[in-house]
Amino acid sequence: MPMFRVAQVAAVATGGWLVYCGWPVLGLCVALLSLGHILTDRLANRVAPAPAGEVPGAAGDLHRSSFVADLHADVVLWRRDHLRRNRRGHVDLPRLGEGGVALQFVTVPTKMVFTPRLQRLFLSDLFFWGSLFSLQRPDTWFSTPARARCQLARLGRWVGRSGGRLQMVRSRGELAELERRRAAGEEVVGVMLGLEGAHALRAGLDVPWLAENGFRVLGLAHFNDTRFGGSAHGLKKRGITATGRELVRELERHAITIDLAHASPALIDDVLSMGEGGELRRPLLVSHTGVKGVHDHRRNISDRQALAVARGGGLIGVSFFVPALPRAEVGAVAETVCHLVDLFDRAGLDGARHVALGSDFDGAVRTVVDAAGWPRVTAALLEAGLPEGRVRLVLGENVRRFFAKNLPAKSAKVTKG
Ligand SMILES: [Zn+2]
Repeated sequence: MPMFRVAQVAAVATGGWLVYCGWPVLGLCVALLSLGHILTDRLANRVAPAPAGEVPGAAGDLHRSSFVADLHADVVLWRRDHLRRNRRGHVDLPRLGEGGVALQFVTVPTKMVFTPRLQRLFLSDLFFWGSLFSLQRPDTWFSTPARARCQLARLGRWVGRSGGRLQMVRSRGELAELERRRAAGEEVVGVMLGLEGAHALRAGLDVPWLAENGFRVLGLAHFNDTRFGGSAHGLKKRGITATGRELVRELERHAITIDLAHASPALIDDVLSMGEGGELRRPLLVSHTGVKGVHDHRRNISDRQALAVARGGGLIGVSFFVPALPRAEVGAVAETVCHLVDLFDRAGLDGARHVALGSDFDGAVRTVVDAAGWPRVTAALLEAGLPEGRVRLVLGENVRRFFAKNLPAKSAKVTKG
C-alpha cells in the first residue's frame, strides 16, 4: 500500500514541522494520525476475557468435523495485514484456521452515525473520522460508494495474496468447489460478500453493480433511517418506503438475499408482509442479532419476528457481540441459540434448522470470543444440552444448505469500478 506509506510519512513530517514551528500539541496530534488506525482498531474491537480451561476433546472433535460458517464480520473495514496473526481485532487468516472456519462472510459497512439527529452532517459520520485517522484516500472521507469500493479492493488483495487459502464463494458452483477442496483436506476458507446498510445505493452504486461484484447479501438498514426504511437505532424507526419496496424487488431479481439485522421492527414487519403477499420468493436472513426473549435490547429481534422469518424458511444468526447478549460470556450465545431452537420447535418447526451464527467480528464491538475461539462456542452449545446433530446444523450446516439453494448457479461477470 504505497499511498498509505506516503500519507504516513507526510503526517509524521508535517507533525514534526509543526513542533519545530512552536505548535507542539498540534504537531503531535498530526503525527499521531499515522498511528490512528492502530489505536481505533485496538480500542474498538475487543474480546471479553476467556474462561479458564481447555475446550473438551469431544467438543474439539465435533468442531473440527463440522462445516463452520460465520454470517457476519466487518473484517476489511480495518487497515491491517489480514494474512498474519494480529494482536488486535478479531479476524485474520491464521485465526480463521485455528477456529476451524469453513465459510466467512465479509460484510462492507459504509456509514455509522454518532447520533441519528445529525445523520446528514458529515462530522457525525464515524466513517469520516475513521477514514481520516486511517489515512485513507480523501474520497472515502465523504463518499459511501468510495468506501464500498475501497473495502472491496482490500478484500481482493487479501484473497489474492492468500495463495489459494481464501476462495470467493459467489455461486452454487463455487460453494461446491469449496466443499470439494475441504473434503480433500485443503485448509481453504470460503469468503462470501455482503453490504451492511444500503447507504451506498443512495449515492451512486446500484443493484446490478453489487450483483456483478459478488455481493450476495444486503442489509437493508444500519445505524440510521434511510430513504429505504427505518433502522433499529434510527430517529423515526419507520417501516419500508416506496423506494425501499422497489429495492427489495430489485434484490429479488438479482438473487441477492435480504438481511434484516439492524432493521427497525416496522421495517421487518413490512418486509415479512411482502413475503407473505408473494412479492418475495427468497427466504430472509437476520445475519447478526440477539433475541428479545432472552435479552431485551433495541438491536435484538423479537421472538414473534424471529419465528416469522423461520416460518418463511429463513435463518437467524445469533451474534457474539456483548450488548446483544444477556451476559459477556460464550454461554450466553448458547443460551440464545437454545431459546430460538425451543421457540421454533414449539411452533412445529424443526427448530435447529433455522438458527445459525453471525459473530459481528471487527464490527467495532466487544465480542465473547475472537475467530480463533470458535471451538469454545461448540463446547458451550454441547454444554447447554444441544444434541451433536443440531450443533452441527447451527455451526454452519444450515448456512451451507441455505446458500446451496439460494445462490445463483454461476457467477456473473465481474466489472471494474
Ligand atoms: Zn452490524
